[in-house]
Amino acid sequence: MTAVQIAAGVRDGKFSALDVAKSFCKQIEKLEPKLHALLHYNHDAAIRDAKGSDQGTKGLRLAGVPIVVKDNICVDNQPLTCGSKILKGYRSTYSATAINRLIDEGAFIIGKSNLDEFAMGSSCEHSAYGPTHNPWDTARVPGGSSGGSAAAVAACYAPISLGSETGGSVRQPASLTGIVGIKPSYGRISRYGLVAFGSSLDQIGPFARTVEDAALALEIMSGPDDNDSTTLSAAPEAYVANLDKRDLKKFRVGYVPEHLGEGCDPAIRKSVESAIALLKSEGATIVELKLSDPGFSVATYYIVAPCEASSNLSRFDGIRYGPRKDGEDLLQLYMNTRGEGFGHEVKRRIMIGTFALSAGYQDAFYKKALKVRELTRREYAHAFEKCDVMVGPTSPNTAFKIGENVGDPLKMYLCDIYTIGANLAGIPAMSIPCGYDDAGLPIGLHIQAPMEGEMEMLQVAYGMEQRLKANRAPALAGV
Ligand code: GLN
Repeated sequence: MTAVQIAAGVRDGKFSALDVAKSFCKQIEKLEPKLHALLHYNHDAAIRDAKGSDQGTKGLRLAGVPIVVKDNICVDNQPLTCGSKILKGYRSTYSATAINRLIDEGAFIIGKSNLDEFAMGSSCEHSAYGPTHNPWDTARVPGGSSGGSAAAVAACYAPISLGSETGGSVRQPASLTGIVGIKPSYGRISRYGLVAFGSSLDQIGPFARTVEDAALALEIMSGPDDNDSTTLSAAPEAYVANLDKRDLKKFRVGYVPEHLGEGCDPAIRKSVESAIALLKSEGATIVELKLSDPGFSVATYYIVAPCEASSNLSRFDGIRYGPRKDGEDLLQLYMNTRGEGFGHEVKRRIMIGTFALSAGYQDAFYKKALKVRELTRREYAHAFEKCDVMVGPTSPNTAFKIGENVGDPLKMYLCDIYTIGANLAGIPAMSIPCGYDDAGLPIGLHIQAPMEGEMEMLQVAYGMEQRLKANRAPALAGV
């Protein structure tokens, strides 16, 4: 069932949140040994919270809906590891604004999901607690960094989960697991309670199996928040009520032919080309665009994000959070704690960021990257004068084998080639299922819109979802 169907059933008294919790707990307990999508799951706590959400379900839009939350988002009194040993045993002392808004609408949190350590990665293999497996083929990755949240929704652990995006971490795993994933405009959802990676890029984003469910979660979580001064001032819009209010033929849809060329898997190219042909046959105006090589975005991101991460992660020092490894003096304590607590990829990012910010290199790297970022933002703004939304592939590849790219950071970084531009520019973007390759692995269609253009993006996504009919659950889910 979708979140919309569950909430309606609970509101109408057809079943209770407790019934819902029992059924999803059963699914989790059956599949978790195969998938390892969750880092924290507590059957009794889920049942208790579901009972709590049964109290007064009147009119609530998420009455009795279970939600899986990426383990870099705070849920009061629940563990929070960020997939890292450095936070082993730590418990949040408050809930993120996004979490409070979902709970206020009747939802309950059923588990915390696996991720690449501190959200750095594209495969979920950089988790200190072992990789998550893709429910479509358990020998393959679910994408990352929000791979656990994506696998959880694909395998029907819950109708909705939360991920976070800094450079594609919701859209790419959505694409690799055949579900819907949204990265909102920067500032649409409060970052209060999301552990900071690259603060100028980070956004929480929902996963769901339908555009309607994802839009509902977005609608509920969005809006200004006094605890995050970077939130947009716009009041939440009625996304769900307006999903079918604008016909596809009233849209100008842009695409960049080069993005379907070299580097893009032929099966993905074919699938995206037929989606574009479908849009055309529905009467949409198709506009060919020229944008700079997306490789520039990857290069820019891998300066900006590590710089911000090197600063943000300095708080994990063994004094304030998590386990401590003592040393003879304070410096030795820091070195022992951080040396043992952080994994390889996190150390690589901290070192790159520290280097690029250091005296003498700051102008050559960090400041130059900021200039390229501004050019990217302008290029998008210019492109959106010619079209209302942009479509293309979400990821250049379908789900790859566990272990295939883990030793090759550059290859891993290129997984985000089509997604990172939207993070640099701050614009909203999403992925919806668009087809399957010969091995039966899902392919995602990427839809990007101008700043604060979520409504139009969702309308195109909804219209395409109805026509593509590509939303399916993997056989393993058994539904
Ligand atoms: N894969 C990218 C990275 O490793 C993006 C991660 C993210 O969006 N959190 O940084």
